[in-house]
Amino acid sequence: MLVALRSRRQIAPFTMHRPASVADALALRAEPGTSAFLAGGIDLIDWLKYGHPLDRVIRLDGIPGLADIAAEANALRIGAMATHAAIAASPLIRDVLPDLAALWPAVANPRVRFTGTIGGNVMAGKADYDGLPALMALGAAAEVASGAYIGLDARNPEGLVTAFRIPEPATLRLFADRSLRPALTLWLGLSEVNGQVRSLRIAVGMAHPRPVCVTLPLDLPRPSLRPAAAELAADVARRLPDPASDGRAGASYRRRMVEVLTRRILAGDSV
Ligand SMILES: Cc1cc2nc3c(=O)[nH]c(=O)nc-3n(C[C@H](O)[C@H](O)[C@H](O)COP(=O)(O)OP(=O)(O)OC[C@H]3O[C@@H](n4cnc5c(N)ncnc54)[C@H](O)[C@@H]3O)c2cc1C
Repeated sequence: MLVALRSRRQIAPFTMHRPASVADALALRAEPGTSAFLAGGIDLIDWLKYGHPLDRVIRLDGIPGLADIAAEANALRIGAMATHAAIAASPLIRDVLPDLAALWPAVANPRVRFTGTIGGNVMAGKADYDGLPALMALGAAAEVASGAYIGLDARNPEGLVTAFRIPEPATLRLFADRSLRPALTLWLGLSEVNGQVRSLRIAVGMAHPRPVCVTLPLDLPRPSLRPAAAELAADVARRLPDPASDGRAGASYRRRMVEVLTRRILAGDSV
């Protein structure tokens, strides 16, 4: 007998809710039974199609402000419901963090970019997605419904994420190399103040169960970065927790490629 593993016919009945505030969304989530937030729905609907039952689906698109992209004191705030397309097209991001706007059109395909949100991308918890390593490389934190900020390096926040906050965007550069997908992706964030490079944050995706970020605190004049590229890249590769060995690549290949890609970016013309 042929069994359909993923089909809309597998979706069990549930009730759909469209709260108009964060408080209402949290109240629905707290009710007895199982529930999930729905952003663009790409991953969640897929998950339901595999037959996972849910009592309530809580849409987030009725909550005002969740998709806003705004400048705050010394920070860029990207609402969790901002789509990939909105991030790439945002005049504000183009102005304060142009590298992010320039890199984001490479994520996914047009259909996904206009539907998928940054919050759903991160909270889906998939090692292959780009949202988390990009935000890690930028030193971003997640803002949760209580208003607290949760760093992303160790684990994903729990509950309702309302936004991501990127500190001091004017000091940041962001670079990415996704050419070795699906073995690994590499996102490199560089913080520079008054001509001195203060830190490098290298976030590696697809090589561990969850993206991993290596931070190098530095105090290096910008012109010294390129001559130090090989040494810095070797340091990053040494500090990287053991990558996975799987059908896509071996651990030692991944570690070596993290060194190669980091060096290539740091020695390149665009840094
Ligand atoms: C063909 C294809 C190609 C793709 N290519 C790429 C790619 O190159 N790079 C990449 O990064 N991604 C890629 N993706 C993944 C895509 O970007 C994600 O599926 C999308 O971002 C998920 O967002 P969503 O809004 O649809 O999330 P949803 O499916 O709505 O939600 C995903 C999960 O997050 C939870 N959630 C959503 N929002 C919140 C919130 N605010 N707070 C708490 N929990 C929340 C949901 O409950 C659910 O568990 C691809 C997807 C497809 C189908």
